[in-house]
Amino acid sequence: MADHEFAFLSQNTFLKAPAFDGARPYAVAGVAWDGCVTNRPGARFGPDAIRRSSHMLCDGTHPVFDTVALDHLTDLGDLALPNTSLEAMRAILQAQASLMLKRHHMVWLGGDHSITLPLLRALKAHHGRPLALLHFDAHCDTWVDHFGEPSGHGTWTYEALQEGLVVPEATVQIGIRSSGVREAREYVNDVGGRVFTARELRGCESPSQLGFVIDEIRRRHAAAGAPPIYLTLDIDCLDPAFAPGTGTPEPGGLSSNQVLSLLESLHDLPWAGMDCVEVSPPYDHAELTSSAAATFVWTYLSGLLAQG
Ligand code: MN
Ligand code: MN
Repeated sequence: MADHEFAFLSQNTFLKAPAFDGARPYAVAGVAWDGCVTNRPGARFGPDAIRRSSHMLCDGTHPVFDTVALDHLTDLGDLALPNTSLEAMRAILQAQASLMLKRHHMVWLGGDHSITLPLLRALKAHHGRPLALLHFDAHCDTWVDHFGEPSGHGTWTYEALQEGLVVPEATVQIGIRSSGVREAREYVNDVGGRVFTARELRGCESPSQLGFVIDEIRRRHAAAGAPPIYLTLDIDCLDPAFAPGTGTPEPGGLSSNQVLSLLESLHDLPWAGMDCVEVSPPYDHAELTSSAAATFVWTYLSGLLAQG
């Protein structure tokens, strides 16, 4: 029976999934932290907005995968995190993430991108090996410091590689285009990974046009011994036309179709989890950004279910 509750007055969970159901294999959790944004704030409101936008998808059978993510999903709410120092937040996030990973395949709703480092630390410990990494972003996030501080939302990829959390050769970045010194922009290439800039992907939108990207990700993943692969999706990978609601928008970005072509085509990889970060609702228009984020998370979950 359909219920006709007005969506925005009902409980705000992703896809209107039941909350705190430990028996469900897939879970989302919000990480409402934006203490590391460097330009426009507001990513702490991202989880709430992404959940609201997901309500449109709540009865959805996915048109490519023919799966219903809602039937297998629970929402664990937003983590209770200290709004103090980055280090205090990360320590508690990592501890809570480690517990959740024992029970669920996790998708994290950010939050700014500084949350990904403790998530990778928890995942590496959980799996007992470094992960492959697929990183969508306008920014390389391989700066060696955060405007004079040791860590932030633009250093985590550098730190993850330095710490051995991810396999360098199986680290692929997509959509990179921001200003930045060569050492940062090319860091992933220099350590043996692969950076696909937004410029390199211009005019390539369908799975067949993006075949060279898909093939390269698969080749690198297989060559690394097919480790669990983590998806981190900074919403600013999209052009501001598709995602205006973000802290550091960069024109010349990816289209929603480019991201969807890649996510759909790579759905069969052994995914370890996902985060979607940097959605800043105060700068959004017509829920464009939160709708894109909700659709990417839904696509990821629906594709996982199609693995059987
Ligand atoms: Mn980022
Ligand atoms: Mn970014």
